[in-house]
Amino acid sequence: MKAAVIHHYGEGFDTIKYEDVQTPVPGAGELLIRVHANAVNHCDTDLRKGLFGVASEMPHVMGVDAVGEVVHVGEGVKEFQPGDRVAPHFMLTCGVCRDCLDGKENLCASADVLGVTVWGGYGEYLKCGQNHVVRIPDNLNWVDAVAGQVPFATAWEALVEVSHICAGEDVLVTAAGGGVGSAAVQIAKLAGARVIAAAGDDGKLERARALGADEVINYEKEHIGDAARALTAGRGVDLCLEMIGGRILAESVDGLAAGARMATIGAHGGEQVELDFVEFFRKHITVHGCGRSTKAQVARVLDLMAEGKLTSVVHRTFGLDEAASAHALMESRNFFGRMVLTR
Ligand SMILES: [Zn+2]
Repeated sequence: MKAAVIHHYGEGFDTIKYEDVQTPVPGAGELLIRVHANAVNHCDTDLRKGLFGVASEMPHVMGVDAVGEVVHVGEGVKEFQPGDRVAPHFMLTCGVCRDCLDGKENLCASADVLGVTVWGGYGEYLKCGQNHVVRIPDNLNWVDAVAGQVPFATAWEALVEVSHICAGEDVLVTAAGGGVGSAAVQIAKLAGARVIAAAGDDGKLERARALGADEVINYEKEHIGDAARALTAGRGVDLCLEMIGGRILAESVDGLAAGARMATIGAHGGEQVELDFVEFFRKHITVHGCGRSTKAQVARVLDLMAEGKLTSVVHRTFGLDEAASAHALMESRNFFGRMVLTR
């Protein structure tokens, strides 16, 4: 099959080669999936540069985020047949550890990671276990499905599953211009919240408004905490989804109401943050670490996308042979929405 392959880690985009590799052969319990589209993920660009923190065997086919059609099933597969439309979940969980058995598969410590520890979505085909895919509704197209599944499921886990978002709450979303952020704006609106979107760029804030944000804060021009309190009659927000870390995390804590919850995913803006911890017990603040969804959550958001209640944001589609260009655009940060590689 053709695939976008790396033979070693590298900063350069030409680290990615478009070439022929062995087509995967599904074993017992596995599916061979013809990939119709995969989305470029920050995990992919980190992995290309050797920054993911887990070693991949070379040569390697990246891609944590893919969708496609079952073309062949391995021995013992009963639930799926050729023609089924599926989305492999990036966490190839063990299924037998205490967290998996407890329904918390996203905490599984023994999971393989699609496109990291095994070959992923940057090829014409991929294989994965029948227990590691979610069905895609018939009326949802490949590009929208792959562009939306991870950001919406990630935001769903943080806002709905973990933080129990409620109608009428004031909800602050930082990094509202990013993939998870723009998904979170839509999910918070769907839940009936009043959404305050924060980003460092007025163009991204305009797009967040178009996705449903009620209010916006440009954190390059304003202190987030001051601005959030000004927008809530001095009270602060009930819930914050914080994805930047550093100064933005500290300022966001300052904008929380008494009894508020904060869900945190990501810290590209600073991993070490100095905080006055008195604030946390004085105001009864809860902080949740989030970031990995479950297959049930992916299935839920795919249904909502098929019903037209959530809309994928696609910046641009590329051919699989243009993976290097897609990585370059990703690293330019000059985009809004997902980059999708189609076949
Ligand atoms: Zn497990």
